[in-house]
Amino acid sequence: MVAKILDGKQIAQDYRQKLKEEVESLKEQGFTPKLSVILVGNDGASQSYVNSKKKAAEKLGMISEIVHLDESTSEEEVLNELKRLNEDDSVSGILVQVPLPKQVSEQKIIESINPDKDVDGFHPTNIGKLYIDEQTFVPCTPLGIMELLNHADIDIEGKEAVIIGRSHIVGQPIYKLLLQKNATVTIMHSKTKDMQSHLKNADIIVSAVGQPGIVSKDDVKEGAVVIDVGNTPDENGKLKGDVDYDDVKEIAGAITPVPGGVGPMTITMVLNNTLLAEKMRRGIK
Ligand code: NAP
Repeated sequence: MVAKILDGKQIAQDYRQKLKEEVESLKEQGFTPKLSVILVGNDGASQSYVNSKKKAAEKLGMISEIVHLDESTSEEEVLNELKRLNEDDSVSGILVQVPLPKQVSEQKIIESINPDKDVDGFHPTNIGKLYIDEQTFVPCTPLGIMELLNHADIDIEGKEAVIIGRSHIVGQPIYKLLLQKNATVTIMHSKTKDMQSHLKNADIIVSAVGQPGIVSKDDVKEGAVVIDVGNTPDENGKLKGDVDYDDVKEIAGAITPVPGGVGPMTITMVLNNTLLAEKMRRGIK
C-alpha cells in the first residue's frame, strides 16, 4: 500500500479561500476582523512566524498589526499592552508569540488575555470549555489536524487513535478532539513503557514530540493514518518530522509530509479563529 499524502499546503489554500469569502461578507456588513500579535524581543524564528501570520491575515482582507516590544520589556509593560488590546474594540483576536524573555511569565500573560480574544485557545477558560464540549477557541495545531482528517474523509469513530506527546498546545487538545469524534484514544509521553505495542495497534497515529525518527515503519500498522506534527530543524535548517516519512508512506493509509502537512494548517486555523472571534462578538453565526 502506498499512502495517500495529506497535502496540508493545498488543503490550507482551499480553506483560506473560503475564509476570504467569509471575511468579504463580514466587511460588507461593516465588520473587519483584526488580529493583533505581541512580539517581545528579536528572536529570528519568532519574527518570521509573526510576519507570516500578519501577511496571511492581510491576504484574506483582515487587518493585522504586530506590537513589537523590546527584549528588556518588563512583565508589567507587556501586561499593560495586553490590557490595551483587550479593551480596544477594533481588535478581534490577540496572539502573544512565545518564547517570552525570562522576566515575563508566559502563564501570567496567557491568563491575562481576554478569553473572547484568545485565538490561540490557551486561556484556562477556553481549555475548560473545550473539555466540557462548549463552543470555544480550539488551539490551532490540533484544530488544523482535525481539518486535515475531515478533508480526507478519514473515519474516526470507533478507531484506535494513539498520540505521542502530551503538551497543552498539541497532545492534550488533540486527545480531546479525537475523543469528541468517538475514537478510543491513548496518549503517550516520555514515561510510557512499550510505546511500540500501542503504536502497532493504532488506526490513527499523531506524533507531537520533536524527535526525528521516533516513529518508524516497524511501529506502524498497514493502512494506519499517520499525522506528523514534529518540526525539528536539521543541521542545514531543513525541517524534519518525527516520522520516517519515506519508509512509513510505503505502508500507511495516509500520511502528512514535513514540511507541508500540519504546519500550513496551523496558521490557517489562527485566521479561522480570528474570524470566529469577530463573528462571536458581533453575534453572527
Ligand atoms: P513539547 O511541549 O516539547 O512536548 C513534547 C512531548 O513529547 C512531551 O509530552 C514529552 O513527554 C514527549 N516526549 C519526549 N520524548 C519522548 C519520547 N522519547 N517518547 C515519547 N514521548 C516523548 O512539544 P510540543 O510543543 O507539543 O511540540 C512537539 C513538536 O511539534 C515539536 O517538534 C514542535 O516544533 C512541533 N510543533 C509543530 C507545530 C506545527 O504547526 N507544525 C505546532 C506545534 C508544535 P513528557 O511530557 O513526559 O515530557
